[in-house]
Parts: sequence; C-alpha cells; structure tokens
Amino acid sequence: MAVRHFLLVSEPPLGCVVEVDGQEYVFAGTFDYTNRDGESRTLRNWSTKCRTCEAPFDAPCDQRMTYLNRRCERCRPKKHMV
Ligand SMILES: [Zn+2]
Repeated sequence: MAVRHFLLVSEPPLGCVVEVDGQEYVFAGTFDYTNRDGESRTLRNWSTKCRTCEAPFDAPCDQRMTYLNRRCERCRPKKHMV
C-alpha cells in the first residue's frame, strides 16, 4: 500500500520502513536542527536510495512528512539563484 502524505503522531521505531510514491524510506533516527533564527526543532532522518543513481542518502524531514527528497544531492535539480 502506498502512502503519500501522512503525519506520524508517535516516534517510529528505528528501521521502520515507509513507502512514499513507490520509494522506500527507512527511519534512521532523529537529530536537532537549529535554523538561522535560533529556533531548534527535531527532524527525522530517512535513509533511501536515489531514484536516478541509486546511491544511498539520508533525507531529513519534519514530522509532517510533506516533502521527502527522492534524489541525492548530486542528482537533484539545482535551485535557481535569484
Ligand atoms: Zn543520485
């Protein structure tokens, strides 16, 4: 069963596998992230494989899981500089 957007209300167990748009993500733990305003929050690391080159990489994500990277940094389209 494919899950698209979902909200994990409790902490998933390490190694928990979710599938998003046909891509598997394995829960690899949490880490604290502090943004430029000094606000810290806990993000989750999801291990997955790049869709393009199949290299393993970690996709950090917040609790909402609204956006997960599907490609490693190398294969990701570059953001346009403004
Ligand atoms: Zn790649």
